[in-house]
Amino acid sequence: VKRQRVDKILAHMGYGTRKEIKRLIKEERVQVNGLPVKDPGLNIIPGEDQLFVDGEYVEYRPYIYIMLNKPRGVVSATEDRTAEVVLNLLPPCYRARRPFPVGRLDKDTEGLLLLTNDGRLAHNLLSPKKHVPKKYYAVVQGTVTREDVEAFRRGVLLEDGYCTLPADLQILRAGLRSEAEVTIYEGKYHQIKRMFAAVSKEVIYLKRIAMGPLVLDETLKPGEYRELTDREVTALR
Ligand code: URA
Repeated sequence: VKRQRVDKILAHMGYGTRKEIKRLIKEERVQVNGLPVKDPGLNIIPGEDQLFVDGEYVEYRPYIYIMLNKPRGVVSATEDRTAEVVLNLLPPCYRARRPFPVGRLDKDTEGLLLLTNDGRLAHNLLSPKKHVPKKYYAVVQGTVTREDVEAFRRGVLLEDGYCTLPADLQILRAGLRSEAEVTIYEGKYHQIKRMFAAVSKEVIYLKRIAMGPLVLDETLKPGEYRELTDREVTALR
């Protein structure tokens, strides 16, 4: 059996940052097997030792949160008959906890993909009502103009008749090939590519760099991943 620190368990279950949990413990609001915890580093056996916060039993759910820099060529699904899927990029010890991708990126899109088994958090991030911002870096064929910025701000008409919500388009470099950052507050199928298509431009490279408060760790090369920090998990809740 694997023992784990009380503060780590509670941080993973959404009781705050390590610092906030330290305070809970100091205020004697955390109990294990009927006794107040004095040391945040106390090791307990999850699911066996009885953990309480403010008198309420804490059910042990081993959540996992992974940030992946998705490489191109890989599908953001849990299974696919022909293509390689993002889950195969993770080691068995992570896969065993059955994480799933929060939202989708196209097969040829790179960048930030959150994988978790925390259904509630995933639901909150994906809920259309929450308008969680998603930020992308795009390389576009053609010159991105101020008119495009204005059009994205107003919302563009996609080929299927859908009118997008206002989006922020920032030109990083305008030329025959342009570089831009786009933030959208919804997530329609192929949205960024279709928005540029609506202003007669083709996206030739696309990378997600942020989702809500979560920003892609630029030290992760495509295909690399790491667990979120407690601070990152707290910010997403
Ligand atoms: N918009 C797209 O066109 N593709 C993605 O993968 C994400 C957003």
